[in-house]
Amino acid sequence: MRAVFVLIDGARPDVLRELLARGDLPNLARFVIEPGGWRVGTTVFPSTTGVAYIPFLFGRYPGSTGIPGIRWLDRAAATGGWREQWRAARSYCGVQGPWLNSDIAPAPSMFDLVPESIAICTPITRGLANGAHRIPLRRAILGSAAHYLGTYPALDRAVQEAWVALAAAPWRFLFVVFPGIDGTTHLKDPWHPAVLDGYRLVDRALGAFVARVARSGGELPAFFVAADHGATVMKEHCDVAVLLEQWGFATLRHPMHVWRRGARVATMVSGNASVQLYFEPRSGRETPRTESEIPRDVLQRLLALPAVRLAACRDDMDGVVMQTRGARARISQTLDLIRYQPTDGDPLNLGGYLELDDRELLARTRNTDLPDAPRQLLQLFQSARAGDLVLAAGPGADFRGPWEIPEHRAGHGSLITEHMEVPIAASVPLPESPIRTVDLMPTMLDYLGVALPQTITLDGTPLSARASRYS
Ligand SMILES: [Zn+2]
Repeated sequence: MRAVFVLIDGARPDVLRELLARGDLPNLARFVIEPGGWRVGTTVFPSTTGVAYIPFLFGRYPGSTGIPGIRWLDRAAATGGWREQWRAARSYCGVQGPWLNSDIAPAPSMFDLVPESIAICTPITRGLANGAHRIPLRRAILGSAAHYLGTYPALDRAVQEAWVALAAAPWRFLFVVFPGIDGTTHLKDPWHPAVLDGYRLVDRALGAFVARVARSGGELPAFFVAADHGATVMKEHCDVAVLLEQWGFATLRHPMHVWRRGARVATMVSGNASVQLYFEPRSGRETPRTESEIPRDVLQRLLALPAVRLAACRDDMDGVVMQTRGARARISQTLDLIRYQPTDGDPLNLGGYLELDDRELLARTRNTDLPDAPRQLLQLFQSARAGDLVLAAGPGADFRGPWEIPEHRAGHGSLITEHMEVPIAASVPLPESPIRTVDLMPTMLDYLGVALPQTITLDGTPLSARASRYS
């Protein structure tokens, strides 16, 4: 058995549906969806590139592996000298990008578990054999050119070429990443003709790969296709770091102010529609703050911002407190049961107190405007590296100013539906019940007949098992 995972970075399910209906993605329809199917699943919070790849390759949530965002603050190191301060202000968006691999907590990756793996254009390479990451140099060069010049089709074509070249090679698992749709979306909008061309490019690449496999007399592998997050057009850049400075709080932030003198707070943005705040970042305190230790006036001012959909922090006793304007609830977990306890209003509009298992709660929250919010907030705050306070933006807003080069005209990172929903397609059956991206790795291992070491538990469950139960 062989499997190919195609990660279409930033693909939105509604765009995919429209292009499928127009007949613009014939190869995806014929070789993946006809033998299997596709669903609208949900990703993780923060819904951002790299962080949201972790479920596909580790079967676990980012918070379970110690990666709370694409940027985060290492509280212990933030008190050091200038070099330590720069290191402490972690950002996988620049030269620290490769550190993502060593920052992920010890756990076997898909590449460790399937040694005959090859990957194309991935930021996560842990467990790959020497030489099994294809086009790393072209990824670096074409990737940074694309970032500043918008030349993403050249990068995606390089991925296509490397993928097709592997059609007759010996491998069991292929991990193929197309970054173009996400990249072009940031510069334009999710429905822009140049973005739609990105979907067609991926479809043509799939067709070319299948044709090459057939020519070389091989059998088709199983295909799994998914995105790591969605995207929305940004109408408002609400730069929280700049606001905090205006309110009198010196703010440690990327890219130029990681050495901010007398910093009272650090802001670490992911996506750009989520931000994590760390208070008194130079105090040397390593343990995260809980609700009563977070400055109330700052929290109230932040919650009053129209751009903020939700704020969350660690509860003083246990679990997480989530707040929206005028509503507050506590979320906690005991064994398999998750409790949602509104104390003011009903921030998730679930009709009041609930105590449900993980999958039931996923189903209950799936069609709210914050799908899977209880599980996603619990998983994030598992990590002591997560901020003291996290903000998720509402539709049309993000947390970084227009000064960013290039400006993000569209983005993601929040807990809102348009960022959390992703297409999940497979050439094998999928269940009707709600699914998450974290379910894909156990599903692929199952398909490949690879057993997990007894000591390892994953956050996802194999879809294949649930598919057969539902059929
Ligand atoms: Zn992405």
